[in-house]
Amino acid sequence: MPEIPEIFSRAHEMNLALPGKRISAIEILQPKCLNLSPGDFTEVLIGAVIDEVTYHGKWIKTRTSQGWLLINLGMGGEILLTNRQQMPAKYRLVFDFTDGTCLTINFWWFGYAYFAPLDELDQIPMLAKLGPNAIDLSSEEFFDLVRTQKQSMRVKAFLLDQSRIAGIGNAYIHDILFLARLHPMRKLGSLSDLDISTLFKAIHSGFRPSIEKGGAFYELDLHGEKGGFTMEYILVGYRAGSPCPNCGTLIEKIRTGSTSSFICPDCQPLDETFQPH
Ligand SMILES: [Zn+2]
Repeated sequence: MPEIPEIFSRAHEMNLALPGKRISAIEILQPKCLNLSPGDFTEVLIGAVIDEVTYHGKWIKTRTSQGWLLINLGMGGEILLTNRQQMPAKYRLVFDFTDGTCLTINFWWFGYAYFAPLDELDQIPMLAKLGPNAIDLSSEEFFDLVRTQKQSMRVKAFLLDQSRIAGIGNAYIHDILFLARLHPMRKLGSLSDLDISTLFKAIHSGFRPSIEKGGAFYELDLHGEKGGFTMEYILVGYRAGSPCPNCGTLIEKIRTGSTSSFICPDCQPLDETFQPH
């Protein structure tokens, strides 16, 4: 599932390549991913000129002269800038531009392509309920966010709750918690001020290597190239039985509520009275 590195990278690539392009036609092979009928969706977006591409959580937000085009890749997928002579094998939506290029969108499983009028972005409930982008918060904002939650909440559940903080998912969270030296089941109320500030830095340092490499290897960039963030860069995630890169203890896969977590049992103790700092 795409997380901040992939969504940030796609939005950045799209923002470099798409502004100024005018939509001339739309081909829809999966009408159920739209929030309008195919006829209405096409009508509102034909002739639209792309202004800017940004993101919020796992949504890529394209502002056009006629409204927002909002794309959520769901479990993953490809957004490719190509042309009708070089179409990918699979696509669910195509936006043709007047310059002869086109944007193809494929969802691996199911995704969304929504339209919203320019001043009605908050009318899309799935976007309106999202918390702030995890890497856009200042350290003070992050601190306030943590301290204003229910303090019995577990730190992993907090970080994965998109309505509280957006863009962290199941792939990167293991390394973020490892970098913060926090057990996933730690309660927010047990975190010291220093823990919170370390966690804030860990979110950035957990995502940065992948952002710098254009996202994970299992996703393609706008031009069809694989992301450069491969398994070798992952510290503890999906590495059960390998030595911890910090202390050498073997990494464990544990159950944490309804999800699995990869942790170093020595670097990330659950004992909430333990203060490693
Ligand atoms: Zn360790």
